[in-house]
Amino acid sequence: MPRTVARGEPRRRLTWPSGSPQVGIHLGVAAGLLRAARRARQIGATALQIFSDNPTAWRRRAGPPADAASFVKYCAGEGITPVAIHASYLINLAGAAEPFAGQSLAGLIHEVQRAPAYGASLVNTHIGSHRGEGAEAGLRRISARVASVLAETPVGVRLVLENSSGGGDSLGSTLEDLARILDAVPGETGSLAFCLDTAHLWGAGYDISTPEGASAVLDRFDELIGLDRLALVHLNDSKSVLGSRGDRHQHVGAGNIGAIGLSALLRDARLPGRTAFVMETPGADEGYDAVNVRRARLLYDGRPDLPSLTARALAARRSGTMRGSRVKRPD
Ligand SMILES: [Zn+2]
Ligand SMILES: [Zn+2]
Repeated sequence: MPRTVARGEPRRRLTWPSGSPQVGIHLGVAAGLLRAARRARQIGATALQIFSDNPTAWRRRAGPPADAASFVKYCAGEGITPVAIHASYLINLAGAAEPFAGQSLAGLIHEVQRAPAYGASLVNTHIGSHRGEGAEAGLRRISARVASVLAETPVGVRLVLENSSGGGDSLGSTLEDLARILDAVPGETGSLAFCLDTAHLWGAGYDISTPEGASAVLDRFDELIGLDRLALVHLNDSKSVLGSRGDRHQHVGAGNIGAIGLSALLRDARLPGRTAFVMETPGADEGYDAVNVRRARLLYDGRPDLPSLTARALAARRSGTMRGSRVKRPD
């Protein structure tokens, strides 16, 4: 399938000044891992998120793809780090019902154990939903299961729990919830980290559209959890209304959060060396991956007056290809 070149795609490869945070994007790997890594380099991404397998299925491939070793070498050589794996979005760490509870635990353990074969230091997962059984019981189950996964997590891999927008009984929509999960995990928690998705923060009611609002979220995260555990920011703008619990991602700086707040997060001096930014923005497989990395680069420069996007760009859907079949990108 020929790649459509979106308007505004840079001709020269974009670079980041020293002291910048790592900034990348979620790319599909249907055409191969190595191809995704080369695309990341081409568009100036310095971090990369992928699925290790079909995110809408429980079935996992027997082993890593044939080009996994070359992928690992390429990313290391080109400074594309971290590589993050986004776990299957069927995983629900809060649910009680079998067989899904057991499948969720086994599925996540599989992802963390497979991560080194992809050179991935981060495995990002959604936390899940208590499905009407109450937040307290859900949080207890999450903490116990997180402990079980951590016990099986190889050295050099961190398990990353992603905040939610709070829709559909989902847990982990507040920083306090994330801290409660951390505090309740028994045993060693050295490899437990968190991801803040900006579109989810927005849906959950955190007004990060201003520098003050953006900074306040990081202040509070630091106070409750500590910024060393903020491994990822999913840098997504949102089509949803603040506090609506909605979660519809938009191109960076083109949604309701806007450029000013997202720029403040990218420029926050506390994050480089600790936190990588990964976009999960629409149309990544139609050329808008380059557009969004470019927009993030402008925001990092403190230039929130971003180029306007075409109607076609704004209508792009957040989807990716995985082994030939089109799948919905997870939140
Ligand atoms: Zn989302
Ligand atoms: Zn996300």
